[in-house]
Amino acid sequence: MSNKKMDFSKWYIETIQKADLMDYTPVRGCIAFKPDGYELWEHIQEEMDRRFKETGHRNAYFPMLIPESFFQKEKDHIEGFSPELPWVTEAAGEKLEERLALRPTSETMIGHLYSDWIKSYRDLPVLINQWANVFRWEKKTLPFIRTSEFLWQEGHTAHVDEEDARKETMQMLTIYKEVVEGLLAIPVYDGQKTPSERFAGAVDTYSIEAMMKDGKAVQAGTSHYLGTKFAEAFDIKFLTKENKHEYVHTTSWGTSTRLIGSVIMVHGDEQGLVLPPRIAPTQVVLIPVGPWKKNPAIIEKLDEIFAILKGKGIRVRLDDSDQSPGFKFNEWELKGVPVRIELGPRDLEKNQVMMKARDEGDKISVPLDDVVPIIEKELETMQTRLYDKAKAFLAENSHTHIDTIEQLKQHLAEAEEKEIIPGWVLAGWCGDDACEAAIKEETKFTTRNIPFNPPVKKHTCIYCDKEAEHTVWFARAY
Ligand SMILES: [Zn+2]
Repeated sequence: MSNKKMDFSKWYIETIQKADLMDYTPVRGCIAFKPDGYELWEHIQEEMDRRFKETGHRNAYFPMLIPESFFQKEKDHIEGFSPELPWVTEAAGEKLEERLALRPTSETMIGHLYSDWIKSYRDLPVLINQWANVFRWEKKTLPFIRTSEFLWQEGHTAHVDEEDARKETMQMLTIYKEVVEGLLAIPVYDGQKTPSERFAGAVDTYSIEAMMKDGKAVQAGTSHYLGTKFAEAFDIKFLTKENKHEYVHTTSWGTSTRLIGSVIMVHGDEQGLVLPPRIAPTQVVLIPVGPWKKNPAIIEKLDEIFAILKGKGIRVRLDDSDQSPGFKFNEWELKGVPVRIELGPRDLEKNQVMMKARDEGDKISVPLDDVVPIIEKELETMQTRLYDKAKAFLAENSHTHIDTIEQLKQHLAEAEEKEIIPGWVLAGWCGDDACEAAIKEETKFTTRNIPFNPPVKKHTCIYCDKEAEHTVWFARAY
Protein backbone atom coordinates (compact mmCIF):
# COMPACT_ATOMS: atom_id res chain seq x y z
CA MET A 1 0.00 0.00 0.00
CA SER A 2 1.35 3.41 -0.82
CA ASN A 3 -0.40 5.20 2.02
CA LYS A 4 1.37 3.82 5.05
CA LYS A 5 -1.12 5.27 7.48
CA MET A 6 -4.00 3.60 5.73
CA ASP A 7 -5.90 1.28 8.00
CA PHE A 8 -4.93 -2.07 6.55
CA SER A 9 -7.74 -4.07 8.10
CA LYS A 10 -10.29 -1.54 6.85
CA TRP A 11 -8.83 -1.91 3.35
CA TYR A 12 -8.97 -5.70 3.71
CA ILE A 13 -12.63 -5.84 4.81
CA GLU A 14 -13.74 -3.38 2.12
CA THR A 15 -11.81 -5.24 -0.58
CA ILE A 16 -13.20 -8.70 0.16
CA GLN A 17 -16.74 -7.32 0.36
CA LYS A 18 -16.51 -5.28 -2.85
CA ALA A 19 -14.93 -8.24 -4.64
CA ASP A 20 -17.92 -10.31 -3.50
CA LEU A 21 -15.89 -13.06 -1.82
CA MET A 22 -17.88 -13.39 1.41
CA ASP A 23 -20.75 -12.12 3.51
CA TYR A 24 -21.35 -11.84 7.22
CA THR A 25 -24.11 -13.91 8.82
CA PRO A 26 -26.19 -13.44 11.99
CA VAL A 27 -23.91 -15.99 13.70
CA ARG A 28 -21.00 -14.01 15.11
CA GLY A 29 -17.65 -15.01 13.64
CA CYS A 30 -19.19 -17.32 11.03
CA ILE A 31 -19.06 -16.12 7.42
CA ALA A 32 -20.63 -17.27 4.17
CA PHE A 33 -18.22 -17.98 1.33
CA LYS A 34 -19.69 -16.54 -1.86
CA PRO A 35 -18.91 -18.35 -5.15
CA ASP A 36 -15.78 -16.33 -6.01
CA GLY A 37 -14.44 -16.81 -2.47
CA TYR A 38 -15.27 -20.49 -2.44
CA GLU A 39 -13.70 -21.05 -5.83
CA LEU A 40 -10.37 -19.76 -4.45
CA TRP A 41 -10.64 -22.53 -1.87
CA GLU A 42 -11.54 -25.08 -4.54
CA HIS A 43 -8.34 -24.32 -6.47
CA ILE A 44 -6.28 -24.67 -3.29
CA GLN A 45 -8.09 -27.95 -2.57
CA GLU A 46 -7.46 -29.34 -6.06
CA GLU A 47 -3.72 -28.75 -5.87
CA MET A 48 -3.32 -29.92 -2.25
CA ASP A 49 -5.48 -32.98 -2.85
CA ARG A 50 -3.47 -33.93 -5.93
CA ARG A 51 -0.23 -33.68 -3.95
CA PHE A 52 -1.65 -35.67 -0.99
CA LYS A 53 -2.80 -38.49 -3.26
CA GLU A 54 0.48 -38.49 -5.18
CA THR A 55 2.21 -39.21 -1.84
CA GLY A 56 -0.08 -42.11 -0.97
CA HIS A 57 -2.77 -40.45 1.16
CA ARG A 58 -6.50 -41.09 0.88
CA ASN A 59 -9.46 -39.01 2.00
CA ALA A 60 -11.95 -40.09 4.65
CA TYR A 61 -14.57 -38.33 6.75
CA PHE A 62 -15.11 -38.27 10.52
CA PRO A 63 -18.00 -36.91 12.66
CA MET A 64 -18.23 -33.24 13.58
CA LEU A 65 -19.34 -34.01 17.17
CA ILE A 66 -16.81 -35.31 19.69
CA PRO A 67 -17.68 -36.67 23.17
CA GLU A 68 -16.29 -34.61 26.05
CA SER A 69 -14.54 -37.67 27.55
CA PHE A 70 -12.33 -37.95 24.43
CA PHE A 71 -10.79 -34.57 25.18
CA GLN A 72 -10.01 -35.55 28.78
CA LYS A 73 -7.73 -38.35 27.57
CA GLU A 74 -4.87 -36.09 26.42
CA LYS A 75 -4.30 -33.37 28.99
CA ASP A 76 -2.30 -30.88 26.88
CA HIS A 77 -4.87 -31.21 24.14
CA ILE A 78 -7.86 -30.38 26.37
CA GLU A 79 -5.96 -27.53 28.03
CA GLY A 80 -5.12 -26.03 24.65
CA PHE A 81 -8.55 -26.29 23.10
CA SER A 82 -11.15 -26.15 25.91
CA PRO A 83 -11.54 -22.34 26.00
CA GLU A 84 -12.56 -22.30 22.32
CA LEU A 85 -14.96 -25.24 22.20
CA PRO A 86 -18.67 -24.80 21.43
CA TRP A 87 -20.80 -27.55 23.00
CA VAL A 88 -23.97 -29.40 22.08
CA THR A 89 -25.77 -30.15 25.34
CA GLU A 90 -29.24 -31.19 24.23
CA ALA A 91 -30.97 -32.84 21.31
CA ALA A 92 -34.56 -33.83 20.53
CA GLY A 93 -35.66 -31.83 23.55
CA GLU A 94 -33.57 -33.83 26.01
CA LYS A 95 -30.38 -33.06 27.81
CA LEU A 96 -27.52 -35.27 26.57
CA GLU A 97 -25.85 -37.62 29.04
CA GLU A 98 -22.47 -36.44 27.77
CA ARG A 99 -21.76 -33.06 26.20
CA LEU A 100 -20.55 -33.16 22.57
CA ALA A 101 -18.02 -30.63 21.30
CA LEU A 102 -18.07 -29.23 17.78
CA ARG A 103 -14.64 -30.45 16.64
CA PRO A 104 -11.75 -27.96 16.78
CA THR A 105 -9.58 -30.70 15.17
CA SER A 106 -10.02 -34.48 15.01
CA GLU A 107 -7.03 -36.14 16.73
CA THR A 108 -9.23 -37.56 19.51
CA MET A 109 -12.00 -39.05 17.37
CA ILE A 110 -9.45 -40.41 14.92
CA GLY A 111 -7.25 -41.75 17.75
CA HIS A 112 -10.27 -43.59 19.14
CA LEU A 113 -10.97 -45.20 15.75
CA TYR A 114 -7.34 -45.93 14.85
CA SER A 115 -7.04 -48.03 18.04
CA ASP A 116 -9.58 -50.35 16.39
CA TRP A 117 -8.32 -50.11 12.82
CA ILE A 118 -4.66 -50.74 13.54
CA LYS A 119 -3.72 -54.23 14.74
CA SER A 120 -0.47 -55.21 13.08
CA TYR A 121 2.58 -53.73 11.40
CA ARG A 122 0.90 -54.83 8.16
CA ASP A 123 -1.77 -52.13 8.73
CA LEU A 124 0.87 -49.38 8.79
CA PRO A 125 1.37 -46.70 7.74
CA VAL A 126 -2.17 -45.31 7.86
CA LEU A 127 -2.22 -42.24 5.60
CA ILE A 128 -5.57 -40.43 5.83
CA ASN A 129 -6.68 -36.87 5.14
CA GLN A 130 -10.01 -35.21 5.88
CA TRP A 131 -11.53 -32.12 4.20
CA ALA A 132 -13.86 -30.59 6.78
CA ASN A 133 -15.13 -27.62 8.74
CA VAL A 134 -13.88 -27.03 12.28
CA PHE A 135 -14.88 -24.68 15.11
CA ARG A 136 -12.78 -22.51 17.39
CA TRP A 137 -14.87 -19.89 19.14
CA GLU A 138 -12.77 -16.79 18.66
CA LYS A 139 -13.27 -13.48 20.48
CA LYS A 140 -11.72 -11.34 17.76
CA THR A 141 -12.51 -12.45 14.24
CA LEU A 142 -11.39 -11.42 10.76
CA PRO A 143 -12.97 -13.01 7.66
CA PHE A 144 -10.89 -15.90 6.24
CA ILE A 145 -8.00 -15.19 8.64
CA ARG A 146 -9.66 -15.98 11.96
CA THR A 147 -13.28 -17.13 12.13
CA SER A 148 -15.25 -19.28 14.57
CA GLU A 149 -16.02 -21.83 11.87
CA PHE A 150 -13.55 -22.43 9.07
CA LEU A 151 -12.76 -24.93 6.34
CA TRP A 152 -9.57 -26.92 6.32
CA GLN A 153 -7.90 -30.18 5.68
CA GLU A 154 -6.39 -32.26 8.44
CA GLY A 155 -4.08 -35.17 7.73
CA HIS A 156 -3.75 -37.92 10.35
CA THR A 157 -1.18 -40.61 9.90
CA ALA A 158 0.13 -43.52 11.98
CA HIS A 159 3.56 -45.14 11.59
CA VAL A 160 5.66 -48.01 12.92
CA ASP A 161 8.35 -45.79 14.37
CA GLU A 162 9.58 -42.27 15.03
CA GLU A 163 11.76 -42.14 11.94
CA ASP A 164 8.90 -42.91 9.57
CA ALA A 165 6.53 -40.47 11.35
CA ARG A 166 9.10 -37.66 11.32
CA LYS A 167 9.73 -38.23 7.62
CA GLU A 168 5.98 -37.84 7.03
CA THR A 169 5.86 -34.63 9.14
CA MET A 170 8.59 -33.06 7.00
CA GLN A 171 7.19 -34.33 3.71
CA MET A 172 3.84 -32.64 4.36
CA LEU A 173 5.48 -29.36 5.41
CA THR A 174 7.42 -29.42 2.13
CA ILE A 175 4.21 -29.99 0.16
CA TYR A 176 2.60 -27.03 1.93
CA LYS A 177 5.59 -24.82 1.11
CA GLU A 178 5.55 -25.87 -2.54
CA VAL A 179 1.80 -25.33 -2.94
CA VAL A 180 1.75 -21.97 -1.14
CA GLU A 181 4.77 -20.70 -3.10
CA GLY A 182 3.82 -22.25 -6.45
CA LEU A 183 0.05 -21.82 -6.54
CA LEU A 184 -0.49 -18.78 -4.32
CA ALA A 185 2.80 -17.03 -5.21
CA ILE A 186 3.45 -16.46 -1.49
CA PRO A 187 7.05 -17.00 -0.34
CA VAL A 188 7.32 -18.53 3.14
CA TYR A 189 9.88 -19.28 5.83
CA ASP A 190 9.76 -22.89 7.01
CA GLY A 191 10.91 -23.96 10.42
CA GLN A 192 10.08 -25.32 13.84
CA LYS A 193 7.73 -23.73 16.37
CA THR A 194 8.99 -22.95 19.87
CA PRO A 195 7.44 -25.08 22.68
CA SER A 196 5.01 -22.31 23.71
CA GLU A 197 3.65 -22.06 20.13
CA ARG A 198 3.34 -25.81 19.63
CA PHE A 199 0.07 -27.53 18.77
CA ALA A 200 -1.65 -28.70 21.96
CA GLY A 201 -0.48 -32.28 22.44
CA ALA A 202 2.36 -32.31 19.87
CA VAL A 203 5.97 -33.31 20.50
CA ASP A 204 7.16 -31.00 17.70
CA THR A 205 5.31 -28.53 15.50
CA TYR A 206 6.66 -27.17 12.22
CA SER A 207 5.20 -24.28 10.25
CA ILE A 208 5.41 -22.16 7.16
CA GLU A 209 5.05 -18.44 7.86
CA ALA A 210 4.01 -15.76 5.37
CA MET A 211 4.38 -11.96 5.55
CA MET A 212 1.32 -9.83 4.81
CA LYS A 213 1.60 -6.32 3.30
CA ASP A 214 1.21 -4.75 6.75
CA GLY A 215 4.25 -6.72 7.90
CA LYS A 216 2.26 -9.08 10.12
CA ALA A 217 2.77 -12.83 9.90
CA VAL A 218 0.23 -15.49 9.04
CA GLN A 219 0.96 -19.07 9.99
CA ALA A 220 0.06 -20.57 6.63
CA GLY A 221 0.33 -24.27 7.44
CA THR A 222 1.48 -26.56 10.25
CA SER A 223 2.72 -30.12 10.49
CA HIS A 224 3.01 -31.93 13.82
CA TYR A 225 4.97 -34.91 15.03
CA LEU A 226 2.77 -36.25 17.86
CA GLY A 227 5.12 -39.02 19.03
CA THR A 228 3.21 -41.70 20.95
CA LYS A 229 1.20 -39.19 23.01
CA PHE A 230 -2.13 -39.75 21.26
CA ALA A 231 -1.35 -43.46 20.79
CA GLU A 232 -0.92 -43.80 24.55
CA ALA A 233 -4.04 -41.74 25.30
CA PHE A 234 -6.18 -43.82 22.91
CA ASP A 235 -4.34 -47.14 23.17
CA ILE A 236 -3.30 -47.39 19.51
CA LYS A 237 -0.99 -50.43 19.57
CA PHE A 238 0.20 -52.79 16.88
CA LEU A 239 1.88 -56.16 16.75
CA THR A 240 5.44 -55.82 15.47
CA LYS A 241 7.21 -58.34 13.20
CA GLU A 242 8.82 -59.65 16.38
CA ASN A 243 5.38 -60.26 17.88
CA LYS A 244 5.60 -57.41 20.39
CA HIS A 245 2.89 -54.85 21.16
CA GLU A 246 4.05 -51.29 20.51
CA TYR A 247 2.47 -47.85 20.30
CA VAL A 248 2.24 -46.27 16.86
CA HIS A 249 3.84 -42.87 16.17
CA THR A 250 1.33 -40.38 14.78
CA THR A 251 1.39 -37.10 12.86
CA SER A 252 -1.19 -34.50 11.96
CA TRP A 253 -0.99 -31.57 9.54
CA GLY A 254 -3.34 -28.84 8.38
CA THR A 255 -3.97 -25.86 6.15
CA SER A 256 -7.13 -23.80 6.12
CA THR A 257 -9.15 -21.07 4.44
CA ARG A 258 -6.70 -18.64 6.08
CA LEU A 259 -4.78 -19.14 2.86
CA ILE A 260 -7.51 -17.16 1.05
CA GLY A 261 -7.00 -14.23 3.42
CA SER A 262 -3.24 -14.51 2.92
CA VAL A 263 -3.49 -14.30 -0.89
CA ILE A 264 -5.51 -11.10 -0.56
CA MET A 265 -3.22 -9.54 2.05
CA VAL A 266 -0.02 -10.43 0.16
CA HIS A 267 -0.96 -9.38 -3.38
CA GLY A 268 -3.84 -6.87 -3.11
CA ASP A 269 -3.48 -3.16 -3.91
CA GLU A 270 -5.48 0.09 -3.78
CA GLN A 271 -7.63 -1.06 -6.72
CA GLY A 272 -8.63 -4.27 -4.98
CA LEU A 273 -7.66 -7.91 -5.34
CA VAL A 274 -4.66 -9.03 -7.34
CA LEU A 275 -4.97 -12.77 -7.88
CA PRO A 276 -2.17 -15.05 -9.02
CA PRO A 277 -3.35 -16.55 -12.34
CA ARG A 278 -3.15 -20.15 -11.16
CA ILE A 279 -5.78 -19.58 -8.47
CA ALA A 280 -7.97 -16.84 -10.03
CA PRO A 281 -11.62 -17.91 -10.58
CA THR A 282 -11.56 -15.82 -13.77
CA GLN A 283 -8.13 -15.66 -15.42
CA VAL A 284 -9.00 -13.62 -18.51
CA VAL A 285 -11.83 -11.17 -19.17
CA LEU A 286 -12.74 -10.08 -22.69
CA ILE A 287 -14.37 -6.64 -23.00
CA PRO A 288 -15.73 -5.05 -26.19
CA VAL A 289 -15.10 -1.26 -26.31
CA GLY A 290 -16.10 1.72 -28.47
CA PRO A 291 -19.32 1.54 -30.53
CA TRP A 292 -19.10 -2.24 -30.62
CA LYS A 293 -22.82 -2.91 -30.80
CA LYS A 294 -22.95 -1.44 -34.31
CA ASN A 295 -20.15 -3.70 -35.40
CA PRO A 296 -21.02 -7.41 -35.03
CA ALA A 297 -17.52 -8.44 -36.15
CA ILE A 298 -16.23 -7.38 -32.70
CA ILE A 299 -18.35 -9.78 -30.68
CA GLU A 300 -17.75 -12.46 -33.30
CA LYS A 301 -13.99 -12.07 -32.89
CA LEU A 302 -14.25 -12.06 -29.07
CA ASP A 303 -16.45 -15.18 -29.19
CA GLU A 304 -13.78 -16.84 -31.28
CA ILE A 305 -11.00 -15.94 -28.80
CA PHE A 306 -13.29 -17.02 -25.93
CA ALA A 307 -13.83 -20.47 -27.48
CA ILE A 308 -10.12 -21.07 -28.11
CA LEU A 309 -9.14 -20.00 -24.55
CA LYS A 310 -11.91 -22.11 -23.04
CA GLY A 311 -10.80 -25.07 -25.12
CA LYS A 312 -7.34 -24.69 -23.61
CA GLY A 313 -8.78 -24.90 -20.10
CA ILE A 314 -8.32 -21.19 -19.37
CA ARG A 315 -11.02 -19.68 -17.12
CA VAL A 316 -12.33 -16.88 -19.35
CA ARG A 317 -15.30 -14.49 -19.21
CA LEU A 318 -16.76 -12.31 -21.96
CA ASP A 319 -18.37 -9.20 -20.45
CA ASP A 320 -20.92 -8.01 -23.03
CA SER A 321 -23.20 -6.39 -20.40
CA ASP A 322 -24.68 -2.89 -20.85
CA GLN A 323 -22.26 -1.21 -18.44
CA SER A 324 -19.69 1.27 -19.77
CA PRO A 325 -16.17 -0.03 -20.46
CA GLY A 326 -14.81 2.13 -17.61
CA PHE A 327 -17.22 0.56 -15.17
CA LYS A 328 -16.27 -2.92 -16.37
CA PHE A 329 -12.53 -2.21 -16.10
CA ASN A 330 -12.99 -1.14 -12.47
CA GLU A 331 -15.18 -4.07 -11.62
CA TRP A 332 -12.81 -6.71 -13.00
CA GLU A 333 -9.75 -4.99 -11.53
CA LEU A 334 -11.44 -5.03 -8.14
CA LYS A 335 -11.99 -8.76 -8.53
CA GLY A 336 -8.31 -9.21 -9.34
CA VAL A 337 -8.72 -10.82 -12.77
CA PRO A 338 -5.15 -11.29 -14.06
CA VAL A 339 -5.56 -10.41 -17.77
CA ARG A 340 -7.99 -8.03 -19.50
CA ILE A 341 -8.42 -7.97 -23.27
CA GLU A 342 -10.16 -5.03 -24.97
CA LEU A 343 -11.38 -5.01 -28.56
CA GLY A 344 -12.99 -2.03 -30.32
CA PRO A 345 -13.62 -1.00 -33.96
CA ARG A 346 -10.27 0.79 -34.25
CA ASP A 347 -8.39 -2.21 -32.84
CA LEU A 348 -10.15 -4.46 -35.31
CA GLU A 349 -9.06 -2.20 -38.20
CA LYS A 350 -5.47 -2.49 -36.98
CA ASN A 351 -5.86 -6.24 -36.48
CA GLN A 352 -4.95 -5.99 -32.78
CA VAL A 353 -6.34 -6.14 -29.26
CA MET A 354 -5.28 -4.20 -26.17
CA MET A 355 -4.06 -6.30 -23.25
CA LYS A 356 -3.66 -5.23 -19.62
CA ALA A 357 -2.15 -7.33 -16.84
CA ARG A 358 -3.79 -6.62 -13.47
CA ASP A 359 -0.49 -5.84 -11.71
CA GLU A 360 1.02 -3.60 -14.42
CA GLY A 361 0.27 0.03 -15.16
CA ASP A 362 0.12 0.15 -18.95
CA LYS A 363 -1.86 -1.72 -21.52
CA ILE A 364 -0.10 -3.03 -24.59
CA SER A 365 -1.29 -3.80 -28.10
CA VAL A 366 -1.14 -7.41 -29.21
CA PRO A 367 -1.56 -8.68 -32.81
CA LEU A 368 -4.88 -10.50 -33.13
CA ASP A 369 -3.22 -13.52 -34.72
CA ASP A 370 -0.98 -14.07 -31.67
CA VAL A 371 -3.43 -13.16 -28.96
CA VAL A 372 -3.95 -16.66 -27.53
CA PRO A 373 -0.27 -17.67 -27.10
CA ILE A 374 0.49 -14.19 -25.72
CA ILE A 375 -2.28 -14.50 -23.12
CA GLU A 376 -1.03 -17.95 -22.14
CA LYS A 377 2.47 -16.61 -21.71
CA GLU A 378 1.27 -13.57 -19.76
CA LEU A 379 -0.59 -15.81 -17.26
CA GLU A 380 2.66 -17.65 -16.60
CA THR A 381 4.88 -14.58 -16.34
CA MET A 382 2.41 -12.80 -14.07
CA GLN A 383 2.41 -15.78 -11.71
CA THR A 384 6.21 -15.55 -11.47
CA ARG A 385 6.17 -11.76 -11.28
CA LEU A 386 3.81 -11.78 -8.28
CA TYR A 387 5.96 -14.35 -6.51
CA ASP A 388 9.14 -12.37 -7.17
CA LYS A 389 7.51 -9.17 -5.95
CA ALA A 390 6.30 -10.81 -2.75
CA LYS A 391 9.71 -12.39 -2.25
CA ALA A 392 11.47 -9.04 -2.61
CA PHE A 393 9.00 -7.52 -0.13
CA LEU A 394 9.68 -10.33 2.34
CA ALA A 395 13.45 -9.90 2.00
CA GLU A 396 13.23 -6.12 2.33
CA ASN A 397 11.23 -6.37 5.55
CA SER A 398 13.16 -9.23 7.16
CA HIS A 399 15.62 -7.58 9.55
CA THR A 400 18.68 -9.52 10.59
CA HIS A 401 20.76 -6.85 12.34
CA ILE A 402 18.78 -6.44 15.55
CA ASP A 403 20.46 -8.13 18.50
CA THR A 404 19.10 -6.60 21.71
CA ILE A 405 15.65 -5.77 23.05
CA GLU A 406 16.68 -2.08 23.15
CA GLN A 407 17.52 -2.20 19.44
CA LEU A 408 14.19 -3.89 18.75
CA LYS A 409 12.30 -1.18 20.64
CA GLN A 410 14.31 1.49 18.83
CA HIS A 411 13.48 -0.18 15.51
CA LEU A 412 9.76 -0.21 16.38
CA ALA A 413 9.83 3.44 17.45
CA GLU A 414 11.52 4.41 14.17
CA ALA A 415 9.02 2.42 12.12
CA GLU A 416 6.19 4.14 13.93
CA GLU A 417 7.71 7.57 13.38
CA LYS A 418 8.44 6.99 9.68
CA GLU A 419 5.08 5.26 9.21
CA ILE A 420 6.67 2.18 7.74
CA ILE A 421 6.01 -1.43 8.65
CA PRO A 422 8.31 -2.95 11.30
CA GLY A 423 8.49 -6.27 9.43
CA TRP A 424 10.11 -9.34 10.97
CA VAL A 425 13.21 -9.64 13.07
CA LEU A 426 15.65 -12.56 13.11
CA ALA A 427 17.12 -12.84 16.58
CA GLY A 428 18.83 -15.19 19.00
CA TRP A 429 16.86 -16.86 21.77
CA CYS A 430 18.22 -18.69 24.80
CA GLY A 431 15.35 -21.19 24.85
CA ASP A 432 13.76 -19.82 28.04
CA ASP A 433 9.97 -19.36 27.86
CA ALA A 434 10.29 -16.34 30.16
CA CYS A 435 12.37 -14.38 27.59
CA GLU A 436 9.87 -15.23 24.83
CA ALA A 437 6.96 -14.10 27.05
CA ALA A 438 8.73 -10.86 28.03
CA ILE A 439 9.43 -9.96 24.38
CA LYS A 440 5.76 -10.53 23.56
CA GLU A 441 4.66 -8.46 26.55
CA GLU A 442 6.95 -5.54 25.72
CA THR A 443 6.74 -5.45 21.90
CA LYS A 444 3.81 -7.69 20.80
CA PHE A 445 6.42 -9.61 18.76
CA THR A 446 5.94 -13.38 19.04
CA THR A 447 8.19 -16.19 17.88
CA ARG A 448 7.11 -17.31 14.40
CA ASN A 449 9.47 -20.20 13.89
CA ILE A 450 13.06 -21.39 14.15
CA PRO A 451 13.96 -21.37 10.45
CA PHE A 452 15.64 -24.43 8.91
CA ASN A 453 17.91 -22.15 6.92
CA PRO A 454 18.42 -18.86 8.79
CA PRO A 455 20.19 -16.23 6.64
CA VAL A 456 22.53 -15.61 9.59
CA LYS A 457 23.13 -17.44 12.83
CA LYS A 458 22.69 -15.53 16.10
CA HIS A 459 24.84 -16.18 19.13
CA THR A 460 23.14 -14.33 22.00
CA CYS A 461 19.55 -14.12 23.25
CA ILE A 462 17.89 -10.87 22.19
CA TYR A 463 16.35 -10.49 25.65
CA CYS A 464 18.76 -11.78 28.31
CA ASP A 465 22.02 -11.72 26.32
CA LYS A 466 22.86 -15.28 27.41
CA GLU A 467 24.04 -17.78 24.81
CA ALA A 468 21.44 -18.34 22.09
CA GLU A 469 20.13 -21.84 21.67
CA HIS A 470 18.15 -20.93 18.56
CA THR A 471 17.92 -18.32 15.82
CA VAL A 472 14.27 -17.34 15.60
CA TRP A 473 11.93 -15.20 13.47
CA PHE A 474 9.99 -12.74 15.61
CA ALA A 475 6.98 -10.78 14.30
CA ARG A 476 3.55 -9.49 15.06
CA ALA A 477 1.07 -12.04 13.84
CA TYR A 478 -2.58 -12.56 12.93
ZN1 LIG B 1 16.99 -15.26 27.01
